[in-house]
Amino acid sequence: PVHTPLLEVQDLSVAYGKIEALTGVSLTLGAGEIVTVIGPNGAGKSTLLGALMGVLPATRGRIRLEGREMDPAAADVGDRVSRGVGLVPETRALFASMNVEDNLRLGAFRFRQEPASRHARSLDEVYELFPRLKERRGQMAAALSGGERQMLALGRALMGRPRLLMLDEPSLGLAPLIVRDIFRIIVQLRRQGVSILLVEQNARAALEVADRAYVLELGRVVMQGPAAQLAGDPRIVEAYLGLQ
Ligand code: ATP
Repeated sequence: PVHTPLLEVQDLSVAYGKIEALTGVSLTLGAGEIVTVIGPNGAGKSTLLGALMGVLPATRGRIRLEGREMDPAAADVGDRVSRGVGLVPETRALFASMNVEDNLRLGAFRFRQEPASRHARSLDEVYELFPRLKERRGQMAAALSGGERQMLALGRALMGRPRLLMLDEPSLGLAPLIVRDIFRIIVQLRRQGVSILLVEQNARAALEVADRAYVLELGRVVMQGPAAQLAGDPRIVEAYLGLQ
């Protein structure tokens, strides 16, 4: 049977003024897959997610979601959101002076027409995934620990019921135990039917949970393959796994 990937990116380029940050990047993500993009600082990983989310316009290339074209040149976040694309940005981008629950509710903005009972069910699902957030639901986001903030950012994205969830460095700045929790949740989300594009500098953790991986260096895909295969590749071991 002909199988249309959930996400197809072809020859995507993005520039900041005269500086090209992404050059001819192609990748695919099948429904139910966890795909990771690893690479060093400044490789263009956040830029890639920005272009996919419609935060940054692309200068060239195609983006298709379930075979339907999205206009890469038009930075249109609303279009992506309405089509089930969600992003947890590296900065987490929480509303510091709003409480946990209100931050979560904002994630369901696109469903604002739906009845309160539906919102309550979504909240329950997020609280089931992150009991810690339930305990702290009345706290200001500013008062949360780093790990709790990451959980809140993830929870808020889930309130938008994404089919494609993009995570930008979810492990950044977190203690190893918390990183393990976050990655466990990522695997659990996939079991629930969410497809995941995971950008990470923590190559070891990312390659452990991913099905396939792309290595991005200086804005270009330099390697790709099954995650297990890349994790055993001497070049990857030396460049990305050796010191972790
Ligand atoms: P990091 O893990 O450090 O976030 P990254 O792989 O996500 O790195 P990007 O943030 O996408 O990399 O940056 C890719 C390149 O684009 C870098 O050279 C960066 O300096 C440049 N860049 C990123 N944002 C801007 C911007 N707003 N204006 C100009 N250049 C930018």
